[in-house]
Amino acid sequence: MKGFAMIAPNQVGWIEKERPTCGPLDAIVRPLAVAPCTSDIHTVYEGALGDRFNMILGHEGVGEVVEVGSLVKDFKPGDRVLVPAITPDWGAVESQAGYSVHSGGMLAGWKFSNFKDGVFGEFFHVNEADANLALLPEGMDLASAVMLADMIPTGFHGVELADVQFGDKVCVIGIGPVGLMAVAGAALRGASDLYAVGSRKICADVAREYGATEIIDYHNGDIAEQVLALTGGKGVDKVVIAGGTSEETFAQAVKMVKAGGRIGNVNYLGSGDVIIPRVEWGCGMGHKTIAGGLMYGGRLRMEKLASLITSGRLDPSKMITHTFHGFEYIEEALMLMKNKPRDLIKPVVIL
Ligand code: NAD
Ligand code: ZN
Repeated sequence: MKGFAMIAPNQVGWIEKERPTCGPLDAIVRPLAVAPCTSDIHTVYEGALGDRFNMILGHEGVGEVVEVGSLVKDFKPGDRVLVPAITPDWGAVESQAGYSVHSGGMLAGWKFSNFKDGVFGEFFHVNEADANLALLPEGMDLASAVMLADMIPTGFHGVELADVQFGDKVCVIGIGPVGLMAVAGAALRGASDLYAVGSRKICADVAREYGATEIIDYHNGDIAEQVLALTGGKGVDKVVIAGGTSEETFAQAVKMVKAGGRIGNVNYLGSGDVIIPRVEWGCGMGHKTIAGGLMYGGRLRMEKLASLITSGRLDPSKMITHTFHGFEYIEEALMLMKNKPRDLIKPVVIL
């Protein structure tokens, strides 16, 4: 089969591979729609996962089941399915401890385009199909469905990590697609004043549609100072980090969050060290919590998040700025994620 792959660090292209084989608990899926992710760029061009060779890329997809293992109960060939980017081993001790994303080791629930071939192939393999797949709801458009693989669960997890509550003042730092879903998630969770930090007009416009009450441009000076100025010097209750840098952004988040506040990070930190400003962290006694995490996958999570779309509470299609039709456009879509033109939020490829 054909797949679009990381051939070596800094090198991508089409390769031929053996079609994956199906274990007794597994499924083989043919993609119907896929999307490239900023994480694919970190993988290929920034060494995020270390060296990888001839690995098919992609972890955001929806598809049609073509084969299931003998022990799979709830799915059959022909089913159209949601596929989360994170597909844990549900029997692992880490899963039993409540951290399925770390089943088998830290971050090891992330398998596609990490430990095995991803979804940019003619077929891909899904472990533990009953636990990791969900049926594509009737009538859901494929482009919205692809956002359930990663963008929605990641942005929403940032909101969970920050523990946003009714009436909280919230700041979301970075409003690419992940941050936009954090804005939407914070609004659903009852944020009152909702500050979104970004610079591109298209992202700012969509952030307002998802519930941002104020846009803060990080080119206009220190964002912590801007947030403090907008809140009469008091700061916000919660911060979600979905963009920015290790050193600068965490320091700003600590400065802008109130004593007792929480910071939820879902941003990938590619370099540098996180710097926590001592005095603003209450000299170690400010009860300002920082939590960072990988998105949760699995069937229940997919079904619940999908229900937000089918019930009309969430419309992820507002983020989709580029739609391609055809397998051959995967490369062009990926290059958009690399070059981030100003009119881009998220591209999708319908196959
Ligand atoms: P993106 O690049 O589209 O968005 C990041 C945004 O941050 C951009 O809009 C950028 O303008 C903004 N930004 C840059 N510097 C900033 C600064 N100093 N202050 C404030 N904002 C700044 O990326 P994305 O696709 O939205 O993904 C966001 C991050 O989430 C990436 O690092 C990605 O790898 C990561 N990610 C994490 C998970 C997870 O499970 N935790 C899953 C998917 C993606
Ligand atoms: Zn991703």
